[in-house]
Amino acid sequence: MAYSFARSLPFVAALMLLTACDNATTRPQMDIAGKTMGTFYSVKISGEVTENRQQLQQEIDALLEQANDDISTYRADSVLSRFNRSHSSAPQPIPRGMADIILTAQRIGRDTHDAMNITVGPLVNLWGFGPDKRPVSVPSQQQIDAAKRNVGLQHLTLTSNAQGEWLQKDLPGLYVDLSTLGEGYGADLLAQLMARKGITNYLVSVGGAVRSRGVNGQGQPWRVAIQKPTDQENAVQALVDLQGYGISTAGSYRNYFEQNGQRYSHIIDPNTGRPINHRLVSVTVIAPTALEADGWDSGLMVLGSEKAMKLAEQQGLAVYMISKTDDGFSAQMTPQFKAFLLQ
Ligand code: FAD
Repeated sequence: MAYSFARSLPFVAALMLLTACDNATTRPQMDIAGKTMGTFYSVKISGEVTENRQQLQQEIDALLEQANDDISTYRADSVLSRFNRSHSSAPQPIPRGMADIILTAQRIGRDTHDAMNITVGPLVNLWGFGPDKRPVSVPSQQQIDAAKRNVGLQHLTLTSNAQGEWLQKDLPGLYVDLSTLGEGYGADLLAQLMARKGITNYLVSVGGAVRSRGVNGQGQPWRVAIQKPTDQENAVQALVDLQGYGISTAGSYRNYFEQNGQRYSHIIDPNTGRPINHRLVSVTVIAPTALEADGWDSGLMVLGSEKAMKLAEQQGLAVYMISKTDDGFSAQMTPQFKAFLLQ
């Protein structure tokens, strides 16, 4: 029986950062790149830069390291991994940043009727898309049902008091997975660092989550390209100017495995307990923060094009969606997205 775990082009972002015409650059530009969260980060600064490059990179790495220590399910000793391992129902202290992510996730979870669900971890791991080992075969319905019994946003409580933020679960097997929001959170951390340093012209990204402000080396708006939804090419589907906002794309076409000709995406429908299986292949969201955009893109992806577009319109979200058709792809967007579109 053919079973291939073809995690296609892992960690390649569905968004491209464009800084065209380098030889026409008239303003100094600092370019810093590195690895974090199983993917890459990039910081591009234009205009006068007074920062010491090496020192700035150290600060960036330290910020992202802290984020990994807080919310990574790929680090056994992170705050989140310790919470997941614990079977206690007592409130456990968590860092402020992690509380902000969970608060956003709970709100988007409610708004998407639990389609975006950070307690989906047991299912993500069962299907082989988490830090655990890959499955040797497609999980049985029995295994899926068992994992689903440990899923449910209602079992997770976040409280805040003078002493700090506290996270609590009333289901011992609850496992929180913040992977879908981590890149957005990371991009926001980088944008906040730029703001603290008084840097006003930057383009920062962690994986597929991006923030930008001001202009590039040519004095033009930074341009971010949404890629065509295939795992074969880096062709541009649309170009946007973020105008200080955050952007994130969720896609079912870059991280999947195949068995017997059937593709299994890493985005799981918490309702069925199975990878999504519909014609919506890519959702891009622009929002005031990259965290917000990163939360919405996966939630809308789970819902499928019809429900996603309806919800995006109700919520007034800037959303660009690409669906598979019989002879190619079709794109649709909300009016709010058009305001960011360059071409
Ligand atoms: P997105 O579409 O943004 O999210 C998909 C992911 O969200 C799935 O892989 C799953 O984890 C989760 N998910 C699936 N369905 C749902 C749902 N319905 N609701 C909510 N969430 C859902 N990867 C490594 O290989 N090695 C590492 O060391 C590593 N470290 C990491 C550290 C941190 C702090 C974080 C946040 C992630 C890390 N990752 C690591 C994971 C990786 O970088 C990506 O975050 C992950 O592959 C998914 O991101 P994405 O943008 O590709 O997909």
